[in-house]
Amino acid sequence: MEVHSLASGSSGNAYIILHQGRALLLDAGLSGKRTYAGLAAAGIDSASITAILVTHEHNDHIAGAGILSRRLGIPLYMTAGTWLAARDRLGIISEDKIHLISPGTAFVLNGLEVWALPVCHDALEPVNYIFDTGKCRAAVFTDTGCVTEAMVNTLSACNAMVLEANHDLKMLQQGPYPWSLKKRVASENGHLSNLQAARVLAWLAAKGKITQAHLGHLSAVNNSPEIAIAAVAQFLAAQGMDSEPVYHSLKVLPRHKPGPVLQVK
Ligand SMILES: [Zn+2]
Ligand SMILES: [Zn+2]
Repeated sequence: MEVHSLASGSSGNAYIILHQGRALLLDAGLSGKRTYAGLAAAGIDSASITAILVTHEHNDHIAGAGILSRRLGIPLYMTAGTWLAARDRLGIISEDKIHLISPGTAFVLNGLEVWALPVCHDALEPVNYIFDTGKCRAAVFTDTGCVTEAMVNTLSACNAMVLEANHDLKMLQQGPYPWSLKKRVASENGHLSNLQAARVLAWLAAKGKITQAHLGHLSAVNNSPEIAIAAVAQFLAAQGMDSEPVYHSLKVLPRHKPGPVLQVK
């Protein structure tokens, strides 16, 4: 299984989960044009995409979902709450193209078991997804303000993940955002900070199966790739984990172009 990022951040998110020649588009936050350009740059044939999975209704996750579903003739998977909140912005979608899923349950797509993991985010019914081939597991874990024990327990079976490292808390606090937005981003229903991401990775490296992690959904204003990597690497090193494979795999996903690929075996 391969996990590609076409773009990652508040200007648009789109990931491709490739397994046995078929692909899932995880979030469609780029325009149709940008998605096709990203697919071409990543060497992925749009005809291999069999479905779009949506995490939640924020525009950076659904901006191209309606258009791509229509153009590729493929179904959309999301929770009932996300559908309710997003439907007016997706254009005309026939009902048979909408597959409603329940948080906390699994379904099978492209030979993968897909788990919908509920997360803490200021959306109606947000989830993240975990992909299991039967031999290995990968997750894309972003847009959550908190990490519960249940979440890390679920993630502990993952071999690889994209993990949100949205902001450096000090940069957020001292930066230009209005106070209400600072409060929202840092809240339990906002986004993960570099330090929160580092704690998740340290826990998974100590108790889980993780060997690879790419950091994603970075803020353009309150973070930088260098700061995010340094924060997570320093935390892991302080825990004595600088010999762990996950420490050596750390990379940042670019905000506007395809990034490094997780090869999950
Ligand atoms: Zn987002
Ligand atoms: Zn969001």
